[in-house]
Amino acid sequence: MRRALRSGLRAAALVLAACASLCTGLTCMCQLCEKTNFTCETEGACWASVMLTNGKQEVIKSCLSLLQLKAQIFCHSSKNITRTECCYTDFCNNVTIYLPTGTDPSSKPKPWPVELTVIIIVPVCVLSIALMLTVYTCQGHHCKIIKKKRANIEEPLSECNLVNPGKTLRDLIFDMTTSGSGSGLPLLVQRTIARTIVLQDIIGKGRFGEVWRGKWCGEDVAVKIFSSRDERSWFREAEIYQTIMLRHENILGFIAADNKDNGTWTQLWLVSEYHEQGSLYDYLNSNMVTVDGMIKLALSIASGVAHLHMEIVGTQGKPAISHRDLKSKNILVKRNETCAIADLGLAVKHDSVLNTIDIPQNPRVGTKRYMAPEILDDTMNINIFESFKHADIYSLGLVYWEISRRCSVGGMVEEYQLPYYDAVPSDPSIEDMKKVVCEQKLRPNIPNQWQSCEVLRVMGRIMRECWYANGAARLTALRIKKTISQLCVQDNSKA
Ligand code: ADP
Ligand code: MG
Repeated sequence: MRRALRSGLRAAALVLAACASLCTGLTCMCQLCEKTNFTCETEGACWASVMLTNGKQEVIKSCLSLLQLKAQIFCHSSKNITRTECCYTDFCNNVTIYLPTGTDPSSKPKPWPVELTVIIIVPVCVLSIALMLTVYTCQGHHCKIIKKKRANIEEPLSECNLVNPGKTLRDLIFDMTTSGSGSGLPLLVQRTIARTIVLQDIIGKGRFGEVWRGKWCGEDVAVKIFSSRDERSWFREAEIYQTIMLRHENILGFIAADNKDNGTWTQLWLVSEYHEQGSLYDYLNSNMVTVDGMIKLALSIASGVAHLHMEIVGTQGKPAISHRDLKSKNILVKRNETCAIADLGLAVKHDSVLNTIDIPQNPRVGTKRYMAPEILDDTMNINIFESFKHADIYSLGLVYWEISRRCSVGGMVEEYQLPYYDAVPSDPSIEDMKKVVCEQKLRPNIPNQWQSCEVLRVMGRIMRECWYANGAARLTALRIKKTISQLCVQDNSKA
């Protein structure tokens, strides 16, 4: 009863505080808001948080949106490694907060009076002896309670309630992205999630290290682990995934980035949604697809690329992005047999106002086998952002060729092969590729039997129009998406 009353009062206070700030708006301290003179405005609350990072207490001050406040994500939490306080008046977070004493290695213990020591030590000794006796008695029998408690200790679920009061990760991300900047979870929530993940098994290896399946509060997640040597790549990929409005069902769902010190070195983590079917490359190697299945895969990839390439104008807008490493190993297959585009580590963003690209350009990045002819012979105009999109479309055509070969029509299907498998060695150099793609102007073979199936015939035509030597003549992702959607309608009306 008293508990219910207390929580009722707390909720009322929260609503009152939120309402008061809604009417007036709050100004808070914000360390990261350089552009707004280190202040931010909110209708929710100001917050200050301290977290133990690499043995040091790191303080963060910022604004909390009204929705985050209502979700009670992290107001007034106090754990061993983090403590957060929210408040509801202008600049009220301009305070210094500390972790409870004992968690900061730099804080020195104060001398204890002798009486206090005796008062504490005697009961502790008595309790220890009693505990030892209990354990000793339990050992001979099946002491289920203790075993159960031990199992609970091994599962670090205690933080789940802090960030996830009865919600799945998907709900949490949805709440946060629709309320906040539309770009991802707050830094503190990302850290809290990352630090409570338990790694399970390795699911992939790539350019920068290992990808693991992990468990967070009973849910599967994927963790890409970079070594500290590759810090820039980790930072870049996390930055791209947190681009405003990037979230899309056909782009891998980003969850968190964290730099974790394991005592000897810093591990850099990138946490994302986990897709048990793995990459499109793995999927095509072990599965053939039906005509419907092929349409579904191809349409979802086109939708993902179209969303990446599209610029959305406005304050909550999204810049145009080029992937620069599209290939079947960087596309994941979801449980419903549609795809999510992954590995955005090499992507570049376009600033349409200044007409600039956000990082210095080395055009020859990505996977040589999938490089467009203009990249191979170094004739691409890197000052025009459209050139990067044209190069993506060439690679997309190669991915479509990989899928179409695995499409079974009238019992006929080809084995899985990488593009140009019959023309270049297994780890081709730029020179090998240039000879085939630019000089001999070869492209992957489109088999004659594709002409006998309408959908494969259209897929073959799309591929040819993705592979023109002249980048500007290639199809756009949006055009491809529309053409494949029409195939989808025709195919369904036939059925
Ligand atoms: P790299 O940048 O090192 O190439 P990727 O992000 O491409 O890393 O991942 C490498 C491989 O790990 C992928 O080809 C895929 O097999 C696997 N993988 C990556 N992310 C996931 C995920 N979210 N779910 C399932 N498998 C994944
Ligand atoms: Mg990759």
